[in-house]
Amino acid sequence: MIEAKSTVLLEHHLKVLKLPSMLREYGSLAASCGKENVDYATYLLRLTERELLERERRSAERRIRAAHFPSLKTLDTFNFKAQPSLNESLVRELLVGEYITRRENVLLVGNSGTGKTHLAVALAMSACAQGRNVRFSTVTQLVTALLEKREARSLEKFHQQLERYHLLVLDELGYVPFSKAGAELLFDVISRAYERTSLIVTTNLPFAEWVEVFGSERLTGALLDRLTHRVHILESNGESYRLKEARRRGRESGRSVEESDDLENRTGG
Ligand code: ADP
Ligand code: MG
Repeated sequence: MIEAKSTVLLEHHLKVLKLPSMLREYGSLAASCGKENVDYATYLLRLTERELLERERRSAERRIRAAHFPSLKTLDTFNFKAQPSLNESLVRELLVGEYITRRENVLLVGNSGTGKTHLAVALAMSACAQGRNVRFSTVTQLVTALLEKREARSLEKFHQQLERYHLLVLDELGYVPFSKAGAELLFDVISRAYERTSLIVTTNLPFAEWVEVFGSERLTGALLDRLTHRVHILESNGESYRLKEARRRGRESGRSVEESDDLENRTGG
């Protein structure tokens, strides 16, 4: 009877304290710890560890949802053998996330379909799991948002929101050239991120061609200066993975390579 009362009270307290994992598991863990003959402190340690792990898992999930990734990709599904030009050990080092602590940037340069977005998302998802706040957007989406915010006179507020992230992913720089205003607004984001927020930028453009996209030599110089001051460059200049996969599927189903090439052209960057 007394035991039942203490159980009811305990469960009530755990609810009030918002410790759902401890509430769910205190009974079964008590039984297994009893069998193992572990002391009370160890029991409590194991129980609190479960609460902590569950809490970390949930907040990583929240961060991943808030980042707005186009699709969820990890290194588990990335085939490094298909992209031999890529520096695998650098990718694995970046996965640990210290570059974010050091406010360094990552630049992924390479042809279409060579896994740049996949790698950017994988790195950014790993950052989410490490407790970093992340935002993913294509450069076009970001520039459109910046132009809208400027129109609505809420640009400064938007900049302040962006500054709360530890990591910004800017995907597909150079696919679409932008207006002078767009280029300047993007420059402001990169400039304000300097030594404050890490950036992962993906692009199909070699540096020499950036001037064409930004329209101004002065602006491009200043931008490259900030972006590359502390940067890790990953180059993936092999064959398009999509094209290779389409070829392979084509061979299996008897479809011609030309049809597969066509597919690659349609799916684009
Ligand atoms: P990019 O951004 O460079 O154009 P993506 O990252 O979008 O290329 O890759 C295109 C598709 O091919 C994606 O579905 C991606 O997951 C897949 N992919 C690309 N490279 C690899 C790879 N080396 N291993 C596994 N999947 C890959
Ligand atoms: Mg891409």
